[in-house]
Amino acid sequence: MKAYNFNAGPCVLPKQAIENTIKALYDFDNTGIGIAEISHRTPGWEKLMADTRQLWRDLLGIPEEYEVLFLGGGASTQFMAVPANLLNKKAAYLQTGVWAKKAAKEAKLFGETVIVASSEDKTYSYIPKGWTVPADADYFHITTNNTIYGTEIRRDMDASEINNVMLVADMSSDIMSRPVDVKKYGLIYGGAQKNVGPAGVTFVIVRKDILGKITDRQYMNPLPTMVDYRTHAAEEAKNISMFNTPPVINIYMMYETLKWVKELGGVEEMNKINVKKSNLLYEEIDRNSMFIGTAEKESRSIMNHCFVMAPGYEDKQDAFMAFAKERGMVGIKGHRSVGGFRASLYNACPIEAVEALVQCMQDFERQNK
Ligand SMILES: *Cc1c(COP(=O)(O)O)cnc(C)c1O
Repeated sequence: MKAYNFNAGPCVLPKQAIENTIKALYDFDNTGIGIAEISHRTPGWEKLMADTRQLWRDLLGIPEEYEVLFLGGGASTQFMAVPANLLNKKAAYLQTGVWAKKAAKEAKLFGETVIVASSEDKTYSYIPKGWTVPADADYFHITTNNTIYGTEIRRDMDASEINNVMLVADMSSDIMSRPVDVKKYGLIYGGAQKNVGPAGVTFVIVRKDILGKITDRQYMNPLPTMVDYRTHAAEEAKNISMFNTPPVINIYMMYETLKWVKELGGVEEMNKINVKKSNLLYEEIDRNSMFIGTAEKESRSIMNHCFVMAPGYEDKQDAFMAFAKERGMVGIKGHRSVGGFRASLYNACPIEAVEALVQCMQDFERQNK
């Protein structure tokens, strides 16, 4: 049976990337040796690292003054590494979900941490408005897409909106889904496993001049070598970017995934496709009398779509889950904190999958109303 994969992450990846990675596992770069078996200091691998970084630069238009780092530890390690590298006295956070909350918790270890606004009061179903970033904050941290709740800040904030404080973003679940004006950020990071590859590699895009500025702080100063972004940035500047052994298979698959994005036409084209897929599903959620969306309309994510049974149909939840499963829908169970359903339509999710889910919702309504 055909399986339609709506998992929230790890999630669907381009078929072409999977096939090419399997080939590379047997034979990398015509060496007769597999990708997991070569030295990461062989020229072929060093070139692959450089090519992968170049793909990042080309796709997002990353300016010269930024480094692109591939690290281990997931986005969760960056929750600590960001304040370790950037929090001198005070940081500001917009709390739009549990990932944002977890990020702020780590910052508190390093210094004063101001939560400028939170939407926890309504299960993070909206992006708060009307907040002010303290002008003396070292940086302002946002989570651009809130994977669990299906809300998203789908634009790049202007410096004037945030008191000219440096912007830092966790873009784990919407990176490469749209064009990003990288210049507006001091640092962008995320785990690869939603839009750019398998779990196990973390990307960090960081402006070089913001590093090495921790003067006042007592805690973790100087920084441990692996935590200091300068360790990895210095290696990248030499066009090597490997202080230690990188997760080679993960980076290889990220390379293949980004190549696929480029072949499709880049992030502008990706954005068009994503908007189309997303509209298709939200239109059905809004039309179908048996379902309602959980996120406030103007905060809706185009990556993760959360919905529950409409009032009066709550008892049909298990029936719909079984109905959808029978038709090949995988990974549509909502996160336990929201309940109901969540369909993640990341870059590699084909429009046919969305059409199949919409059809499934329509058929369920016809048979159960
Ligand atoms: C998945 C996710 C994380 C956690 O990533 P790990 O790589 O598992 O640590 C953090 N932030 C956001 C927005 C996510 O979607």
